[in-house]
Amino acid sequence: MDRIKIEQTDITGLKVDAIVNAANKSLLGGGGVDGAIHRAAGPGLLEECKALNGCNTGEAKITGAYKLPSQKVIHTVGPVWNGGNNKEEELLADAYKNSLQLALKDNIETIAFPNISTGVYGFPKEKAARIAIHEVQSFLEKHPEIKSVTFAVFDEENLNIYKELLVLC
Ligand code: ADP
Repeated sequence: MDRIKIEQTDITGLKVDAIVNAANKSLLGGGGVDGAIHRAAGPGLLEECKALNGCNTGEAKITGAYKLPSQKVIHTVGPVWNGGNNKEEELLADAYKNSLQLALKDNIETIAFPNISTGVYGFPKEKAARIAIHEVQSFLEKHPEIKSVTFAVFDEENLNIYKELLVLC
């Protein structure tokens, strides 16, 4: 599907309507992509996040993007991988679905996702990629208003997984 793109890049540099942050439940910043987004956005982002009262796993909340080149940041909380019998797959799918739903509500047409949960949260990368691609594809089929979804992959392993899975689509 030509509305799905892969880019090996730091997501903070992307000039899309919204970038998605793989946040933690506090929404008060952390390591990995979350830390990179807060550093690049500047302190205004943390100030706005403080007023949101956190976010549950699988849900999403939206803020401004401050010094980032995107217009908005959608913060979602992916599940911590805990063996696979704790609704991890369902919760990861929810994180993608709820982020896309929020984007639609906010008239966002271009959006970029990091590989949610595949860093510190330890979700197996290929399993996560299959879920991400499936959720994005089914959403795009239903919603032509969304013009493009970019998977901003950071590491080589995810890049290869996404390239392989997306040629099969
Ligand atoms: P989580 O806690 O959800 O696992 P992490 O931030 O630890 O979140 O990792 C999620 C993914 O984001 C990993 O694949 C990691 O390589 C990637 N990542 C880390 N920094 C960046 C960045 N600046 N831009 C895009 N992806 C990033």
